[in-house]
Amino acid sequence: MTLPIVQYNSPILRKKGVKITTFDAALARLAADMIDTMHAAAGIGLAAQQIGQAIQLCVVDLRETDAEFQWELDGARPPLEIFMPLAVVNPVLIVVPEPTTSYEEGCLSFPEIRGDVVRPDKLSVKFQDLKGVPHLMVCDGLLSRCVQHEADHLNGVLFIDHMTKDVLAVIDPELKALKKRTREAAKK
Ligand code: ZN
Repeated sequence: MTLPIVQYNSPILRKKGVKITTFDAALARLAADMIDTMHAAAGIGLAAQQIGQAIQLCVVDLRETDAEFQWELDGARPPLEIFMPLAVVNPVLIVVPEPTTSYEEGCLSFPEIRGDVVRPDKLSVKFQDLKGVPHLMVCDGLLSRCVQHEADHLNGVLFIDHMTKDVLAVIDPELKALKKRTREAAKK
């Protein structure tokens, strides 16, 4: 089942997600709905805040991208098809500060708006799956970027927070228009 996607500048997008401690059928159902929602919107990642819940859960799926990246999950390199779409619960990131890369990011809460964001290329992420089992993933490239973008959402941080003033200046009219649309939709 797909869920409505919350758009900028809804306050929920700025809320830090609460740590998940109950790994039950309701959590699995929510993750499945978030995956459906992400797929329907042709996204590669979605965080719980974007469907209106401030909890530490995000989903990612990079099977359809042609970007090159490396990954290791629990010390092995399983094919993406085996572990994606991936539900990431309570992620803790350790980024390798250098090197960084710049890439034009989008976000499902900012339809049609894209802008360059500089991020570290490599990271390790400790997380739990939907049963509460701990995992460690080491990755780079677009997968690392996607996990960083989604983990930011779980802490109330948005991709615009990482953009330079120059990049923000270009998209400012679109951001203002989106803010206005969101505000007007909330009144209805
Ligand atoms: Zn996003």
